[in-house]
Amino acid sequence: SKQDGRNLIRQYDPQAQKVLNARMALSNDLNLALRDGQLKLLYQLQVDAENQARGAECLMRWHHPQHGQVSPVEFIPLAEDSGAIVAMGDWVVRLACETLARWAQVPQLSHLTLSVNVSPRQFTETDFVARISHILQDTGASPHLLRLEVTEGIVMQDKHEVIAKMRELCALGLSFSIDDFGTGYSSLSYIQTLPLAELKIDKAFVNELTTSERAQAIVKAIIAIGHSMGITLVSEGVETQAQKDQLLALGCTLLQGYLITRPIECAALEDLVISRHSS
Ligand code: C2E
Ligand code: CA
Ligand code: CA
Ligand code: CA
Repeated sequence: SKQDGRNLIRQYDPQAQKVLNARMALSNDLNLALRDGQLKLLYQLQVDAENQARGAECLMRWHHPQHGQVSPVEFIPLAEDSGAIVAMGDWVVRLACETLARWAQVPQLSHLTLSVNVSPRQFTETDFVARISHILQDTGASPHLLRLEVTEGIVMQDKHEVIAKMRELCALGLSFSIDDFGTGYSSLSYIQTLPLAELKIDKAFVNELTTSERAQAIVKAIIAIGHSMGITLVSEGVETQAQKDQLLALGCTLLQGYLITRPIECAALEDLVISRHSS
C-alpha cells in the first residue's frame, strides 16, 4: 500500500522475496547457458525501398532447460547486472563474424551486412576494441559488413572515452548504429559528433505512425536528422503495409519487421534471400 513507502524499515514481503529469488536463480542459470549451448542467434532481414535484402540484425535467444524460451527483454538486463553479457556479447560477435565469412563465399549473400547489439556494459570493457579486433582477425570477416548497434545509454558515459573508442573501432572498418533513437536522453549536438553510419527508429514510433500525429512528427524529425548527417535510416518493428508505405514516403532507407519477416534461423534466412534473389 501507499503507506509502506513512509516506513524507513522495509518490511519483509514474501511476494517480493519470491520475485527476487527467482531473478537470482535465473541469473545463476544464465551463467551456464552459454557453456551449455542454450543460447542461439536468430537473424531478422532488413530490406530497402526496392525490397532488396541488404542485411540482418542478430538477436539472441535463450532456451532454458526448465522454463523454455526466456525473452531477451528479461535476460539481457540480468546478464548486464551479473557481467555475463561480456562473454555472451563476444559469442554473438564471433558467430556473426563467422556467418559473414561464410556468406563472403556465396554470391547472393556476400553483400549482406550484419548488425549486432552491444550493451553498455560490454562497450565499457577496457579491452572491447581488442576483443572485436581479435574476433575479426580470427574469423576473417569483412569489418565493413559488421555494424554495432549501441543505445543512447552508452553515449551517456564519458564523452571523450566513448568517441575515442568508437573512432578506434571505425578505423578497423566497422560502423555504428544508434538503436532505439529518440527514446534516450542524449543531446542532438552530441549525437552529431559521433562517427555514425545509421540511426534506428524505435518500433514504438513506427507502431503509432499511422495513428498518431505526434509519432509522425517524431519520425519525420529523426529522418531529417539522419539525412542531414548523410546516414542510413532503419525502421524496426514494421508490421503493416501502411507503415511501410509511409516510412518510405518519408525517406526511410531500410525496413525491418514482421511484415518482411520475423527473426529466423540463419539457414532459413539464407534460403529466403537466395529464393528472393532468383525470383
Ligand atoms: P532491439 O535491439 O530493439 O530489437 C528489436 C526487437 O523487436 C527484437 O526483440 C525483435 O524481435 C522485435 N521485433 C522485430 N520486428 C518486430 C515487429 O514487427 N513487431 C514487434 N512487435 N517486434 C518486432 P527481441 O528479439 O525480443 O529483443 C529484445 C531486445 O533484447 C532487443 O531490442 C535488444 O535490446 C536486446 N537484445 C537482443 N539480442 C541481443 C544481444 O545479442 N545483445 C544485446 N546486448 N542485447 C540484445
Ligand atoms: Ca537492436
Ligand atoms: Ca531497436
Ligand atoms: Ca527497440
